[in-house]
Amino acid sequence: METYEQLLDEAYGKIKKAETSGERFEIPKVEGHFEGKKTIITNFSQIASIFRRSPEHLQKFLLKELAAAGQKEGDRLVLNIKVPSSKINQKIEEYAKEFVICRECGKPDTEIFREDRITFIKCQACGAKHSVRSKI
Ligand SMILES: [Zn+2]
Repeated sequence: METYEQLLDEAYGKIKKAETSGERFEIPKVEGHFEGKKTIITNFSQIASIFRRSPEHLQKFLLKELAAAGQKEGDRLVLNIKVPSSKINQKIEEYAKEFVICRECGKPDTEIFREDRITFIKCQACGAKHSVRSKI
């Protein structure tokens, strides 16, 4: 016979499990190639739209973090240096963790906005609000 506490623990364990299983947000990976000394990210616009962030914001972050110059050409982002995709993916992940994924519930359904010169992300799933770096 189980004690009341054990039953509670068990029920709680089940809830926890349900929350974390299944629909985990997958951070998109870059697709691209080198062209001479340049790096072309071909799915750049798609990544920005999965994150629901402006391509400009993501571009600014990546260029700064990778210490590269570059510009958008259609849906692609062209970097003036060769950067291995593993390094770009790492930065994409950092971007997602800081500017997209809710720190409370882990969902990516957030929006970014500025208020009194501070930038926040607000989660549409749980309502949490966090300040993030304004300058990138
Ligand atoms: Zn949330």
